[in-house]
Amino acid sequence: MINIVLFGKPGAGKGTQAEFLKERYNLTHLSTGDIFRFNIKNETELGKLAKSYMDNGDLVPDQVTIKILEDTVNKNPNTKGFLFDGFPRTLAQAEALDAFLSTKNWEVAATIALEADDEILIQRLLERGKTSGRPDDQDQVKIRNRYQEYNEKTAPLMEYYNKQNKFYPVNGIGTIAEITERLSAVVERL
Ligand code: ADP
Repeated sequence: MINIVLFGKPGAGKGTQAEFLKERYNLTHLSTGDIFRFNIKNETELGKLAKSYMDNGDLVPDQVTIKILEDTVNKNPNTKGFLFDGFPRTLAQAEALDAFLSTKNWEVAATIALEADDEILIQRLLERGKTSGRPDDQDQVKIRNRYQEYNEKTAPLMEYYNKQNKFYPVNGIGTIAEITERLSAVVERL
């Protein structure tokens, strides 16, 4: 069992890298953003709720997000490990994740952060917004709000995991393949 948190600002490439890492290490990819988007597409109650926050670039409330995370983990009891992507995003979520995993005698092995400058990432998101259809990628104001949410609520998690000696920053600028190798080098050392 090896659980990895992929960490980084919006647009850092977590989802892209998760696709490669999950194949290489046989992990279950768990993206809270993907779960919310699936529910929005299918017009579920959760989707309606999530949409009201996501469209503005606000975080979905912790209570809702933590419940979804736990339910999804519970649906995959035989996995070799999870690749958490976009979760945790707040201190409350990180604490809930630790507490929840420990009830199963599991833990987060490493938090690997993809690092890149805001201005590069904002350009990437605007580019993605041309084809992704994501309302939160198409408007500078919403994108700036996501960065503000990140800086206020998510950035403190670096210290949280650093204190546990589980924080591994990786340069997020380069080709997709180069970055996959940088991430894999961390995983191999665990
Ligand atoms: P990105 O990393 O590009 O912002 P995500 O798909 O991870 O893309 O997240 C998109 C949106 O989904 C976030 O802006 C937020 O509204 C919501 N979301 C995803 N994960 C969480 C989470 N762990 N807590 C709260 N909101 C979340």
